[in-house]
Amino acid sequence: MSRPLLMIPGPIEFTDEVMVEMSRPSPSHVDAAFIAVFSQALKDMRHVWLSGGDSQPFILAGSGTLAMDSVVNIIEPGDRALVIDTGYFSQRMAAICRHYGAEADVLSAAPGDTVSAAQVAVQLQQADYDLVTVTHVDTSTGVLTDVQGIAAAAKAAGALVVVDGVCATAAEELRQQDWGVDIYLTASQKAVGVPPGLALLVASPDAMNKWRQRSTPVASYYSDWANWLPIMEAYEEKRVSYFGTPAVNLVMALAVSLRQILAEGMDEVFARHRRLSDAVKAGIQAMDLGQVPTSHAHAAHTLTCPRYPANLDPAFLGHVRANGVILAGGLHPVIKSEYFRIGHMGAVGRRDILTALGAVESGLRLSGYAIEPGIGLAAAQAVLDE
Ligand code: PMP
Repeated sequence: MSRPLLMIPGPIEFTDEVMVEMSRPSPSHVDAAFIAVFSQALKDMRHVWLSGGDSQPFILAGSGTLAMDSVVNIIEPGDRALVIDTGYFSQRMAAICRHYGAEADVLSAAPGDTVSAAQVAVQLQQADYDLVTVTHVDTSTGVLTDVQGIAAAAKAAGALVVVDGVCATAAEELRQQDWGVDIYLTASQKAVGVPPGLALLVASPDAMNKWRQRSTPVASYYSDWANWLPIMEAYEEKRVSYFGTPAVNLVMALAVSLRQILAEGMDEVFARHRRLSDAVKAGIQAMDLGQVPTSHAHAAHTLTCPRYPANLDPAFLGHVRANGVILAGGLHPVIKSEYFRIGHMGAVGRRDILTALGAVESGLRLSGYAIEPGIGLAAAQAVLDE
């Protein structure tokens, strides 16, 4: 393969079958065959999200931030939100809640740390919260947060639970119905495995009821479920409808990707991400590099955030690129220059992981960090061969 391998935390490498859908002639959005594909994608989302038959999926044209913006539907001015902050994207969620008139209290972890369910339970006793938001995996720190525990605490306190799964959905275990998550949102370009451009979310019956019972108008026109719910219902029931033109090729690609994910099975998808992540992290550790998450127990399985060794040539990522792999630099403003990021989600496998680790080893040596060739690869292979 002459083109480089894209191993950043989104966009990711997409399957050939997904890319074929992107290249097909665009159908009319009211074509019967397209309507059937849209219907299937909505139904399949419930199975990938494990959200139950009475949940409501939405497929919108937009990026992950638009999916986050959908919280506007369950926020009324003066509502109180508790934002669990594990990095850059949690802070964006706090900004969105405030933008739409909520008072947002932020429970922050230091970069690399997480917030425990016990800490959230204590905070929930301090005030009446309408809403608790969690970033399942914060892409700026590689921290995985305990959604199951936090959702249980929030539900017990009568709050709705919103989870940003942009760097987690269809990779990290999340059982929306069983865990009591009210909105689980993501974007197409990560583990869902479709090029950027779709905002995806599934809302619980409680979330839909909060929206139905609101006494003030939704403060965004494009995000308002009043515009989109009839469209989602119509597509699912295979009726013609229109509010805004759907991103037809992306929806076709989504339908293919969801089928591929479901053919593997959600338990196997979650297990594969854990296995590959353990292999990458073992390789990084064998190279004697630290990682941003302060404990393996709360490290994400969708990306790895190795810390740079001291005095490394800043050309490191360029050397990795010259060895055929594109990785990402740091993102969290406080520690931005101290680490890099390797994405490993979606249709990744053993070949990608070993290629990436090999390029990291070469990049490190070319950047003045003396490690024994193959030391990280051997550690990763040992995990993969277990
Ligand atoms: N939340 C998380 C956790 C993300 O990783 C990202 C994007 N990297 C976003 C939200 C925003 O998504 P987008 O860039 O597609 O708007």
